[in-house]
Amino acid sequence: MGYCREHLCPKCGYKAVVSGGPDVGMAMRYTLTISCRDCQDLYDVGWLDPKFVTDPEGQSSFQWKQLRLRCPEDARHQWEPYTGHCPVCSSTLQINEEGEGYHWD
Ligand SMILES: [Zn+2]
Ligand SMILES: [Zn+2]
Repeated sequence: MGYCREHLCPKCGYKAVVSGGPDVGMAMRYTLTISCRDCQDLYDVGWLDPKFVTDPEGQSSFQWKQLRLRCPEDARHQWEPYTGHCPVCSSTLQINEEGEGYHWD
């Protein structure tokens, strides 16, 4: 189940509502949270997409298609996997369980 939570920076006040890690929704789409150094922002980006392929004999099989991870704003941006740090000031983000989290599937 996909679930996004509010992440807060106690130092600079940065706030983002992201899943905060690898996540999978009901539609079987994996997302990963990345931290973009150029935007100084966190994003949930598509990581794996389910794909059904049919071979010449008509047998269908299931595969994961790995998507190229990139910043949604610009493919040239430098980013890293989100590890719990603020993209602005590198402080450890706090998760606000009472915040505006939402289920996205
Ligand atoms: Zn970016
Ligand atoms: Zn911060």
